[in-house]
Amino acid sequence: METKQVKAYGSEAATEPLKEMVINRRAVQPHDVEFEVLYCGICHSDLHQIKDDFGPSFRPIVPGHEIVGRVTAIGDHVKNFKVGDLAAVGCIVDACGHCEYCETDLEPFCDEGVTYSFNSPDKISGGYTYGGFSKTYVCNEKYVLHMPEFKDMAAAAPLLCAGITVYSPLKHWGAAPGKKVGVLGIGGLGHLAIKIAKAMGAEVVVFTTSPSKVEDAKRLGADEAVLSSDEEAMAKYNRKLHFIIDTVSAKHDVNTYLNLLRHDGTVVLVGLPPEPLEIGAFNVVSGRRSFAGSNIGGIAETQEMLDFCFKHNITAESEIINIQEVNTAFERLEKGDVKYRFVIDMASLKI
Ligand code: NAP
Ligand code: ZN
Repeated sequence: METKQVKAYGSEAATEPLKEMVINRRAVQPHDVEFEVLYCGICHSDLHQIKDDFGPSFRPIVPGHEIVGRVTAIGDHVKNFKVGDLAAVGCIVDACGHCEYCETDLEPFCDEGVTYSFNSPDKISGGYTYGGFSKTYVCNEKYVLHMPEFKDMAAAAPLLCAGITVYSPLKHWGAAPGKKVGVLGIGGLGHLAIKIAKAMGAEVVVFTTSPSKVEDAKRLGADEAVLSSDEEAMAKYNRKLHFIIDTVSAKHDVNTYLNLLRHDGTVVLVGLPPEPLEIGAFNVVSGRRSFAGSNIGGIAETQEMLDFCFKHNITAESEIINIQEVNTAFERLEKGDVKYRFVIDMASLKI
């Protein structure tokens, strides 16, 4: 397949820092949109995969799946985009398109498996996908989102993964007036979960390991915030919450949070700790509670989430960096030293 050379930032091994490199992207196919990457968020899933947390990644790996840009070329059959349009890509860039899940906007659960925007076998090129830490991105228009005209486009980039990953379960489990929703872990996903759950009308209680985030959670819109090491404060929430979105990226005790659920309540895991989590039988048997998971969201739901966030003026609290600072950003993300999302200004990667 014809390819085009593109500048990018990636790493050759889990032990090596990211560096500037040249990758080969597929040439624009009849249904493809090509866009110049303007901004790309840094998600903890990028960090997991450059460290090989989920098994060996393809190398070199070019991360980045919160990608916002402007269209530079379109294939002959593209109907919904033209050169110059804003465009965005999140986690999914291909799926079978005809299974019951693809047909009902549940592409993340496609029977044939999805192609992720980076570090994923690419059925079209025969190679694997490279993410948004690069000058351009190319994918089928079906998986390209229309970006509303956010005032701060950089701060909107994290909606493409962090935003949809919390929007989808908040909607599915019914965040609404009269519902008390817990948010566990205030990082990139967690801080957007607070804003989105509030905009849906729910009452939001935050659980954090970081004393500095207790006050900040209220600034972000939470009704109440609890330091999870404070046993007395935690006990006040026993059997009080309808459901909890768990965004924690490392191994932690979920039983503590199952105990905070009302009858029929659910802890919804979206965080991806590489190690298995243990669940005590009585923590789910009592109260007929559930422990569930959720994986990003479908393409139509992602567009709905972007439009919802635009309407409610929701973007991420972002620290904008140049691509040359990306290794320091990953070190800080690993230590939990980011409030609350790094976003790369891709203009810093010179052609
Ligand atoms: P992040 O910004 O690093 O936030 C994670 C938060 O978890 C931290 O800010 C911290 O919050 C808490 N935390 C970290 N280590 C902890 C520990 N050992 N014990 C308790 N709490 C801890 O990460 P993110 O980008 O929001 O991503 C969160 C997780 O979701 C990652 O595992 C990522 O891979 C995953 N993810 C999943 C999906 C999906 O579709 N399911 C999509 C995107 C990301 P406090 O300081 O408040 O305690
Ligand atoms: Zn992500």
